[in-house]
Amino acid sequence: MVSPSEALLAILEDVLGDIQKPVSLHEPHFAGQEWLYVKDCLDTGWVSSVGSYVDLFEAQLAKSCGVPHAVLTVNGTAALHIALMLAGVKAGEEVLLPALTFIATANAVFYCNAVPHFVDCEQKTFGMDAQKLAAYLAEVGVKKEGGLYNRKTGQRIAAIVPVHIFGHPVDMDALETVAQDFGLPLVSDAAEALGSLYKESPVTSHGLLSVLSFNGNKIVTTGGGGAILTHDPDLARQAKHLTTTAKVPHRWAFDHDKIGYNYRMPNLNAAFGCAQLEQLGGFLVAKRALAERYEAAFAGSSHFEFFKEPEFAVSNYWLNALLLKDGMDRESVLKGVHEAGYLCRPAWTLMHELPMYKDCPRMDLSVSENLESRILNLPSSAKLGMGINA
Ligand SMILES: *Cc1c(COP(=O)(O)O)cnc(C)c1O
Repeated sequence: MVSPSEALLAILEDVLGDIQKPVSLHEPHFAGQEWLYVKDCLDTGWVSSVGSYVDLFEAQLAKSCGVPHAVLTVNGTAALHIALMLAGVKAGEEVLLPALTFIATANAVFYCNAVPHFVDCEQKTFGMDAQKLAAYLAEVGVKKEGGLYNRKTGQRIAAIVPVHIFGHPVDMDALETVAQDFGLPLVSDAAEALGSLYKESPVTSHGLLSVLSFNGNKIVTTGGGGAILTHDPDLARQAKHLTTTAKVPHRWAFDHDKIGYNYRMPNLNAAFGCAQLEQLGGFLVAKRALAERYEAAFAGSSHFEFFKEPEFAVSNYWLNALLLKDGMDRESVLKGVHEAGYLCRPAWTLMHELPMYKDCPRMDLSVSENLESRILNLPSSAKLGMGINA
């Protein structure tokens, strides 16, 4: 009998070929104008929060994300923080977000002095289950003047924050219906989903606001960085104002009209981002080719199910994922592949299982709990789909 970890190793060797170990989960790839654009910043002296690359990257990003406005930030968490403020989240209020996500989503809610309220996900997308959310809100929500209130805690529920897990779009139409029915804004955490399409348009063009991350492990990196995306010119203007210390524009006076944040992406990082964004199309092709190879290799597996994009989406396949069969020992599988140099990873510890967030309000999270115990991420760097084996 072949053990599950031996079976997984055989497939990884087959798909990835003779490759240098260790194979990390996701590495950045610099094959464009990165050196040239960064050098230009150094040569001209424009390295900090003002410069032509910041404006250029914003314009190019907005175009590729299907929105008229993009505002760059120092990282994705800062972008989420500001997006939640702009959506009207106030201290003490609750924000609906999935239990299965990276901790930044919950932390950004906490930075608003608001309370994360955890929602279950569906196996089809790994993201928020719109139907389950609607049924839950019908039960715990009370509509009053000023909005929707949680019957149990008495607090206002201020927003819904879906997360496109591993780059796979959630069912945005279904969530928009829930959002409309309950009068809640949708702020989409698209940190992992640059380049993913929902029903033929960029997933980032849906909802009131979307947020991206350009951390080193994301599909496109600026070293560290993030962005706020929106169709609404007034929200975009406020986003720019809040991320630039709320300084009132003036040639020499330093006047600020509220407490703002120093969250603006520096020109140096934006220059890097311009060079990376030019390669996004190639990254997407390479990542899809890799996902197709994985899919074919896992097709007959009795131990593993390869996670495929939902039918309404064209995913960027940021991180490829497997589902282990129920009851399989995930730790021994991880140990086996790590020892062989493949740095596969489980999903994040669920938010309500972390000590900081264990007492937060939540619905039944049984699907998230089951999936969390079975998800395994596979090496997914773009270069693996380009046949670069270094
Ligand atoms: C990466 C990520 C973030 C935060 O981005 P940073 O740039 O690291 O602050 C937020 N949400 C999700 C789901 C992420 O994967």
